[in-house]
Amino acid sequence: MKISVASGKGGTGKTTIAVNLALSLGSDVQYVDCDVEEPNGHIFIKPNILTTETVGTPIPVVDLSKCTYCGKCSEICEFNAIVVVKNNVLVFPELCHSCAGCWLVCPHGAISKTSRETGVVETGSINGLEFVHGRLRIGESMSPPLIRAVKNRMNRAKTVIIDAPPGTSCPVIEAIKTSDYIVLVTEPTPFGYNDLKLAVDMVRQLKIPFGVIINRSDIGDNVVKKYCQNEHIPILLEIKSDRTIAEAYSRGMPMVELSPEYRKIFMQLYQDIERSVGV
Ligand code: SF4
Ligand code: SF4
Repeated sequence: MKISVASGKGGTGKTTIAVNLALSLGSDVQYVDCDVEEPNGHIFIKPNILTTETVGTPIPVVDLSKCTYCGKCSEICEFNAIVVVKNNVLVFPELCHSCAGCWLVCPHGAISKTSRETGVVETGSINGLEFVHGRLRIGESMSPPLIRAVKNRMNRAKTVIIDAPPGTSCPVIEAIKTSDYIVLVTEPTPFGYNDLKLAVDMVRQLKIPFGVIINRSDIGDNVVKKYCQNEHIPILLEIKSDRTIAEAYSRGMPMVELSPEYRKIFMQLYQDIERSVGV
């Protein structure tokens, strides 16, 4: 089973939930950190990193000696990443989405491919728990190719917990779209409510079962709770704000190491998800 943990905005405790859920399941689990712009699950899981691999994405290279400046490559590019000017073809690698359109359409075979580095994928393990994360190259704006590379390392023989990027844009959809279940983490504040509604719209479009965890449930108001009740969205868990959890977090200590009670709570969460999916 693949469970994604996502949130409409950053700072809701998404990684806390993903990490603690993974750690509570023992060794038959793989934690996959797709939050490649700011991966921080490793701070809590502390895996032994075993492999580091550079990941690239294909971009076009034009051989001007074969080019007739017909403009077909530039016409097909939806991202203005290749532009034909007088006696030259300009390529803007940072805009290229590697869709392959230009090299497939070129009638003279003038376009070949090279690779642009987007980041690294690291894999590791600790006590049988498998770990994968991606780290986006500084200055790189396109994270989906790296997220795909991270997901290619998923171990289908294990329960996979995907820590998704925050928000509701392309990187999140890339991370969560093949999941069996999505956990949306939010907080009971006006911002949390607003971003939860966007996230709910997103997962409903994907037609994947989901539920909500309300973190720091004793701050703010009860608008999030009422919204979930009105929309018939299951509230999987409510976690009260707790200074001990915050202090442990600041030291890189996961909740399940604070008390066996938390491990039980996260195991129960997993069983509830299993029931929802019908496993
Ligand atoms: S499609 Fe090929 S031949 Fe035409 S302008 Fe582009 S690179 Fe040149
Ligand atoms: S691969 Fe696609 S996005 Fe990149 S330059 Fe070619 S047509 Fe544009």
